[in-house]
Amino acid sequence: MLDVRFDCYYRYADLTRILKDFAATYPDLMTLESIGQSYEQREIWLITVTNHQTGTAKDKPAVWIDGNIHATEIAPSSVCLYFLDVLTKGYKNDPEITRCLDTRAFYICPRVNPDGAELALADKPKFLRSGTRFYPNPDAVEEGLIEEDIDGDGRILLMRIPDENGPWKVSPVEPRLLVRREPTETGGQYYRVFREGKVENYDGVSIPIKPLKEGLDFNRNFPFMWRQEDEQKGSGDYPTSESEVRSLVQFISNSPNIIGALSFHTMSGVLLRPYSHQSDDKFPPEDLQVYEKIGKEGTKTTGYQAISIYHDFRANAQDYVTGAFDDWMYEHRGVFAWTVEVWSPMEYAGIQDYHLVNWFREHPFEDDLKLLEWSDRELNGEGYIDWYEWEHPQLGKVELGGWNGLYFWRNPPQSVLEKELRRFPKWLVWNALISPCLELYETKVEALGDDNYYLRVAIQNTGWLPTYITQKALEKKLARGCLCFLKLPSGVSLKMGKEQEDIGHLEGRAYQASAITWRTGDATSDRALVEWIVQGEKGSKIDVEIRCDRAGVVRTQLQLLE
Ligand SMILES: [Zn+2]
Repeated sequence: MLDVRFDCYYRYADLTRILKDFAATYPDLMTLESIGQSYEQREIWLITVTNHQTGTAKDKPAVWIDGNIHATEIAPSSVCLYFLDVLTKGYKNDPEITRCLDTRAFYICPRVNPDGAELALADKPKFLRSGTRFYPNPDAVEEGLIEEDIDGDGRILLMRIPDENGPWKVSPVEPRLLVRREPTETGGQYYRVFREGKVENYDGVSIPIKPLKEGLDFNRNFPFMWRQEDEQKGSGDYPTSESEVRSLVQFISNSPNIIGALSFHTMSGVLLRPYSHQSDDKFPPEDLQVYEKIGKEGTKTTGYQAISIYHDFRANAQDYVTGAFDDWMYEHRGVFAWTVEVWSPMEYAGIQDYHLVNWFREHPFEDDLKLLEWSDRELNGEGYIDWYEWEHPQLGKVELGGWNGLYFWRNPPQSVLEKELRRFPKWLVWNALISPCLELYETKVEALGDDNYYLRVAIQNTGWLPTYITQKALEKKLARGCLCFLKLPSGVSLKMGKEQEDIGHLEGRAYQASAITWRTGDATSDRALVEWIVQGEKGSKIDVEIRCDRAGVVRTQLQLLE
């Protein structure tokens, strides 16, 4: 029995059970497969969703959706499960979803990084960026503060220690909150704040904060603009060196029908698009326009802003990230790819007009009060835990408390999770329905006498995007156009035309201006015609198949009749 809830987060065994149950409950719509194994040999599950009755996923344009490539970003797995639930409930009930699954497909990978997620969700959690392989230096000696749930309550909170030279003091307005000590201020009670943890090799004085031994970032290991560790932290030994990334790259490369991709992360409440490393003026202008149109629809249905990573989402103007999934998808696969950063506690707390990146460096104290108030009111205080004393094995008396990192900042608290998940299905379905779609326009058979026949088949792209998807794909020749195959039975011979013909690409409607002007003229570049003359016995049947990697397949049969 399928039992899936959206007020909790699932560990690997439960996630696996739920995915198997989805596939078993809806065999006409879903198939489950493993596309590879994680470093610790967990299967990386992929669920394919389409109406099998109307053709296999391979024969339809498809959208890729994944989540949880970063270990602690677990809400994205729930985004995927929620979407599966919406699709199964909507099929045959919701006309958009029905049309979508009849003519398109989804490839959904809810947990790209099962090893890292398993640690984040453990009873005694551990927070990694990505996988569990020791990198870049497997023999490094750990020293300094190592994050850990030291009091065993299942949470990793903050740890405050009184310190004459500490940078924080108790807020006079709200004693649970800490505020920054003024530049020239002395003589008060000050604190130093760490994340909850132990100190390795403590010398009684220094507590350095060093990178973890598990220093990989899977979303820097993709094979476009890959850079080495000294330039790009976490990038791995070589592009796709990590099994999780290689499994994705291999599946996607073997699926030329993928026309778009959405990779779910947390947090910020924003829709991010390439480039990560260069300015928007490097885009072919048509691609930037279409990206913006897709983003605009995303903002309308999800409520999230759609922005460029390079222009609007960099922590540091001197730096940029490379080796990311979305850049790879756009640049090497030539499709529109997005990174969706789920969840923003600021939005729920009623903080407006904040800068997504700079807020963490500098923001008004009133914002902290709003966040705290929201935690008290909506989460029974579970978002911000009042400080409590604890005897630390190395540091003596400390206090634990403060923000709940995993279920307030990193992910939506369980009680608001479902509300957050409701944002996405509509836009995801829309992203599939804008794909090119090959359909039959007309067929014709005309007898010419002496067992000669004139045949023709016309096709059209009824989708919004062109069959090549992006100008980038055209430029780099990343996608084939429409190929027409005539299957002649014995006794029928070809007099004119080809048995196999490359028809090229068909345009869509994506580049249309917003309104008609005196220059408007809609050429029929979304249609194509294939013609033949054959000789054969009356009544013979000839199969024609036209396939376009990114727009699906059309099959028809012509019969030689007067
Ligand atoms: Zn992430």
